[in-house]
Amino acid sequence: MSQMTTPKELFVHELKDMYYAEKTLTKVLPKLASESNDRELTKAFQSHLEETRGQIQNLEQVFKNIGKRAEGEKCPGIDGIKEEHESFMEENEPTELLSDVFITGSAARTEHYEIAAYTGLINQAKALGEQDSATLLEENLKQEKEALKKVETISKRILKATKPIATRSTSKSRAKARV
Ligand code: FE
Ligand code: FE
Ligand code: ZN
Repeated sequence: MSQMTTPKELFVHELKDMYYAEKTLTKVLPKLASESNDRELTKAFQSHLEETRGQIQNLEQVFKNIGKRAEGEKCPGIDGIKEEHESFMEENEPTELLSDVFITGSAARTEHYEIAAYTGLINQAKALGEQDSATLLEENLKQEKEALKKVETISKRILKATKPIATRSTSKSRAKARV
């Protein structure tokens, strides 16, 4: 292993990491879409899959901008999120509602990871004077932030439906019981 000495080398490393992550997600998102029992959630994954394909093209353009060949580098971060999701689904038999809540959590973890990675890449690109690349990466970041908001909203909506009736209107039913 040779020593890494320049900010550009670090940028390239993190770019490859994200390229690997996005490619992995093109395989994960269809799986999440099929695991989902909620139409809105399934649709959200399908449309984020389309966005992810565009994000990969943006990354390829960034590689071009800096004169490097587009290639991935194994990212244990995204692999870990994926493995944690898979083992939970294998080891547990969550009800449909619980499964959907869990899936939104896996998606949110992924989006947070991507948001952190893109934020770092954008700052590095700007420091390197790579403004065009920063703009492309900002496009991806914006989509990740919107995807996060979407799954959070869906999660809250599903969680409302998981509330047992007894705790939904506790004070009212208690008042009734006393009458
Ligand atoms: Fe992405
Ligand atoms: Fe990584
Ligand atoms: Zn994403």
